[in-house]
Amino acid sequence: MTNSEFLRVMSEGTVKQRHPISGNEVWTVPGRGNRPLGITGPAPQPVDPAEHDRLCAFCHTRYLETPPEKSRLVREGGQWRQLEGVRAEELFDTVAEFRCIPNLFEILSYDYWHLNHGYELDPTTAARRAGYLSTPAGREHVLAVQKGKLRISGLSDAEIEALGEKEVISRASGFFGGGHDVVVARRHLVDDATDTSQLASAGTLTVEEHRQYTRFTISALQRLLETIPRARHVAVFQNWLTPAGASFDHLHKQLVAIDEYGGSNQRALTREIQQPGMFNTRVMQPAIHHHLVLAQNDHAIAIAGFGHRYPTIKVLSTSPVCDPWLMDPIEVDGMSDLVHALHAATGADVASNEEWHQRPHRVGIPLPWYINIKWRVSTLAGFEGATKINVNTISPAALKDLLIPRLRELRDRNIVSVGLIGDECRISQHPLRYSRPQG
Ligand SMILES: [Zn+2]
Repeated sequence: MTNSEFLRVMSEGTVKQRHPISGNEVWTVPGRGNRPLGITGPAPQPVDPAEHDRLCAFCHTRYLETPPEKSRLVREGGQWRQLEGVRAEELFDTVAEFRCIPNLFEILSYDYWHLNHGYELDPTTAARRAGYLSTPAGREHVLAVQKGKLRISGLSDAEIEALGEKEVISRASGFFGGGHDVVVARRHLVDDATDTSQLASAGTLTVEEHRQYTRFTISALQRLLETIPRARHVAVFQNWLTPAGASFDHLHKQLVAIDEYGGSNQRALTREIQQPGMFNTRVMQPAIHHHLVLAQNDHAIAIAGFGHRYPTIKVLSTSPVCDPWLMDPIEVDGMSDLVHALHAATGADVASNEEWHQRPHRVGIPLPWYINIKWRVSTLAGFEGATKINVNTISPAALKDLLIPRLRELRDRNIVSVGLIGDECRISQHPLRYSRPQG
């Protein structure tokens, strides 16, 4: 396919796009993008500084409302330290900048892995479970959270009492060896917030905090692959704000281990076998040809994506290494810096999904690590259902035009570490090194 088959502008301005991997068709119709982004959050409420840290169950004064923690990252002076399996008695001894906790309601439950794949807790996890339950505070915490979960599931207090403590605790194995984790950031609101609209989004973190957030998420991803041997892939995503599917307006990422590659990975693997290096030819070359490059540093490139239903920013690693947990930390930081800068340029009031795409586990075919940031600003209409042609309200070029001045301003103010922006970028013919150049 030629560059214009992925993206072409019709005489009156309609932009017809084809997704480079799925082949999905997306049109942007002139004029529709001029509508406002559709940001209508709840009316801001004044907030007492004393309430900053108790606004939701992810806030750091409410550690006991979430299941037992797997690990946390703390900052001591200028140093970051990762603590594993903090006991209930010690939860409030330090403040977690980021913590990894099991999701209370897993997409795939412990029972899914146990009953379908014979999964049992590995010795380390079993020991952590036993240790946590061996103290009164730990036992009480697990009982309280598991009872709360049963109550939300529809059981009455009498039914829960009838189960008995032993049974309630036996149902809590997913809290220790489950395959659905949440990585939660410390802040709910920015430090100097005066009302509830001043949320601490990914873009409000410092460059260093965002790097630690990314590295810590990768360590959680790696742990899931190690503890659940039958996991073929871990879906990593960040839903920001209710329109994007978030339950709390408190920054967090989710990691879900699955026993398949997932449809989009399968399609990418098939295309890569047919056309090695296709992320260079099908993604990067059309993006360069159509001037959609947003930013570049030594280890990553950001582009305005094409062929997406929602306006989508794509950040791609240029590392020859495919698996993020095997990359040099400096390469991970390069990805983090562009993702952070683009969240900052997007703004905290835009609902978004951040979706990680990394090669599925134990696959020999190379695929680059990349991250999509999708702005959830348009809604599906009957036209899409009837034609299978999606209408995106902001074309890739319009998305770029929105973002470039904001990136420049953020760079000038030293808020982001973004490298080169827009036309400053110097990109080679095969900028992604995950696969040997073909032809
Ligand atoms: Zn919160």
